Amino acid sequence: MSDLKVLQKTLLAIDGRGYKAYQDIKGEYRVAPGISLEIMSVQADPFAAPSRLRAIVEQSVAGFETGHFASPGQRVAAADYLTREFAAALDQIGMKRRGSGQSGLINVDRPGQQVLERTSVLMNQDRVEARFTVGLPAAGRRVLGWQAAELLCSDIPQIIRRSLLLPSISPSALQKHIALYEDQEYLRSRLPELGLVAFVAHGSCLPRASGISDLPLPGAIPFQVPEQLAVSLDLPHRGPVRGMGIPKGVTLIVGGGYHGKSTLLRALERGIYNHIAGDGRELVITTPGAVKIRAEDGRRVAGVDISLFINNLPQGQDTKAFNSESASGSTSQAAAIMEALEMGADCLLLDEDTSATNFMIRDARMQELVAKNKEPIIPFIDRVRGLYQELGVSTVMVVGGSGDYFAVADTVIMMDCYQPYDVTARARAIAAKHGNDRQNEGGGPMTTGRRRCPLPSSIDPQRGRGKKKIRARSSDAIQFGHSDIDLSAVEQIVDRSQTRAIGAVIDYCRQRYIDGCTDLRTVLQKVESDIKQGGLDVISPFGRQPVGDHARPRLQEVAAAINRLRTLRIRQDCGREEPDGGHGDFGCDPG
Ligand code: ADP
Ligand code: MG
Repeated sequence: MSDLKVLQKTLLAIDGRGYKAYQDIKGEYRVAPGISLEIMSVQADPFAAPSRLRAIVEQSVAGFETGHFASPGQRVAAADYLTREFAAALDQIGMKRRGSGQSGLINVDRPGQQVLERTSVLMNQDRVEARFTVGLPAAGRRVLGWQAAELLCSDIPQIIRRSLLLPSISPSALQKHIALYEDQEYLRSRLPELGLVAFVAHGSCLPRASGISDLPLPGAIPFQVPEQLAVSLDLPHRGPVRGMGIPKGVTLIVGGGYHGKSTLLRALERGIYNHIAGDGRELVITTPGAVKIRAEDGRRVAGVDISLFINNLPQGQDTKAFNSESASGSTSQAAAIMEALEMGADCLLLDEDTSATNFMIRDARMQELVAKNKEPIIPFIDRVRGLYQELGVSTVMVVGGSGDYFAVADTVIMMDCYQPYDVTARARAIAAKHGNDRQNEGGGPMTTGRRRCPLPSSIDPQRGRGKKKIRARSSDAIQFGHSDIDLSAVEQIVDRSQTRAIGAVIDYCRQRYIDGCTDLRTVLQKVESDIKQGGLDVISPFGRQPVGDHARPRLQEVAAAINRLRTLRIRQDCGREEPDGGHGDFGCDPG
């Protein structure tokens, strides 16, 4: 490893030369004992994607202790904290533009309100490593050697010293950050034995500042716990907390328009993630298998068994292996449920605002006018109990419009001026008084559908001759080869870095596990176990070189993206799971 002085010398020597001369600086440099800077890739020109760098500080110098990296949770929380510190330090020191294009800009991933597993900082017993990008300074297409030397040999070492060494950050703030994360994980782990799918702490602030902001709404009315649903428990760091427990089973959120129903449901959607202190949803905790389900007309559906909800379509289309280039509201919602169950969802979250009415309910009068054999849809109301009783899948749903649901609910929460009330008993009494005037249209066994094996030839990231193109256009769109994956209705993706990681995971499993004989769930479980073993770095598109802008998505959201790929083709029920994990012995033609 050469000294940083060597880098400085090289940079001054190439000042004024063509941009290609920067290629010479690739390599690893010693900044100080135990601190090094590696220039992993150098951009081809000033307008190309920026160069990728990493700073490595040995733990003997960085000074972090066991409690910062002993468990996976500690590593995730500490890495998140240091990412924020690194970003703050570079805002103070390194945000000068130098020359044309993106040149002179240093960038690190910027976490939002959630604390996610990220690749921006790696924390373990040996070292702390920060991954970031730099636009190498240029004037037109000429190297600005002096500016580059200042940036790489002075600014970046300062940023490293200020943000990656324990003595230069606030150890107590870091400790609090980790403690909160551990409390959140603990609370989530206790939900099953408490018989809950979610917990909302007393005093939480649920609403957001605006439709485009994830920050808490200033001056919001804090969440109060209704006595009948109150649950108290002891967290390892914070101690006793009290909150509203949402029990397993079927839960309705009712109430007048604009009284905070959707706000509560959205907080529950996000409760699969941990949040930073001050977010207001730090102690809104949902089971990790909770999936938001909504209608998404126009989406593509490939080989999904939606027969649980839809049968006898007018043109005799197969609903056990339903395909559509442009699904309707109801078929898209049915497909979303079946896809979520396929990935192991244990709780469905639905909002009437984003549901297809004919999927949710067919009331008595409609049943009288339109005969059952003229209606392909078995409405959700007639399946929601079976989902729980036979498959163990709970539902939490916002229904302001249909009291027919009282008859199938275990718990009814009414939102009134942003405050929740337990109105289960009243809802039951009302249901009993009116009797069952509508016919149950369910019946028949509950199935989770068949195994779905994606065909490898239908997932192609190539764009042009031999050139792969996988890119997150935004947090809800991935360019994948020639096609675009629209994720705007996949509402539990919260960070563009997750979207990027989803693109990378799709390519990763395409290369390793998608063979036309392995079902989607098994494929994604293999990826999960690889990530568990090797960290999120295993999905890096650059092989051994890490990237700094991936955040971990759930298996659910990766599947959602694959399922929305317009080219996807599926083979259902191809052979059995082979005992040795091999494939190809069952007459499988991955075609
Ligand atoms: P609903 O789904 O019942 O029609 P929403 O959940 O959409 O109602 O909430 C309506 C409005 O009230 C939103 O603008 C939301 O930000 C705001 N709101 C929700 N909860 C609170 C609260 N606790 N304090 C203040 N405003 C809130
Ligand atoms: Mg609403």
